[in-house]
Amino acid sequence: MRKSPRRRSAAQPPESAVDFRFKVCLLGEPGVGKSSLVARYVLNQFTERYSPSVGARMLKKELRVGTPDGDVEVVLLIWDVMGEKTLAALLKDAYFGGSQGILAVADLSRPDTIQALPGWIGAAQSVAGSVPVVLLGNKNDLDPNIESTESFGALAERSSTPCWLTSAKTGENVETAFQTAAAAILERYRADSRSVPSRPLAASASQP
Ligand code: GDP
Ligand code: MG
Repeated sequence: MRKSPRRRSAAQPPESAVDFRFKVCLLGEPGVGKSSLVARYVLNQFTERYSPSVGARMLKKELRVGTPDGDVEVVLLIWDVMGEKTLAALLKDAYFGGSQGILAVADLSRPDTIQALPGWIGAAQSVAGSVPVVLLGNKNDLDPNIESTESFGALAERSSTPCWLTSAKTGENVETAFQTAAAAILERYRADSRSVPSRPLAASASQP
């Protein structure tokens, strides 16, 4: 049984039986495993074949997030954007506009993809605002060397960002990473709602 009344996202009216719909973006260098992570999470599939994304793809996933007031049903609208930086820069308003959260993905076997993350996150937040970020160090099944795992952890610590070592291939931490993002977005949403002062009666009475 539900412990709390249904609430509505201010931005988008929800589908039936859904409390919130949040847009999240995956970003990171080409080939780090963004599309594979979405395929694992939404379809429970994995392929070794690499088909570079053309344009952006959106997949939906419904999940349940625990809050102090009880569980809520959330639909994540997951945007998998193509990793080509120049095009992503051109299209960043469309990709990142209205995003309520970011999953920033690096390939632990390619240290350059870790160094590239702050640039990607900065580009997305310049459009979406300072929305919650979760860092994913992907391809953990390839036994990455300790230096790259440490540099990934150091980036997370510097930016006070939650992070997970993931594998789209084995499924390690994939669900948990998306769940962390949904919980962080929900927590931000609740904090923002609390910080909005309710309008004084006199002021609302003067509205047409
Ligand atoms: P994207 O360009 O970031 O969307 O990357 P893709 O999801 O297309 O993945 C690029 C390549 O890496 C593909 O050949 C995938 O099969 C492979 N790949 C993705 N995730 C993993 C993973 O966790 N482990 C391993 N071993 N390979 C992966
Ligand atoms: Mg892709």
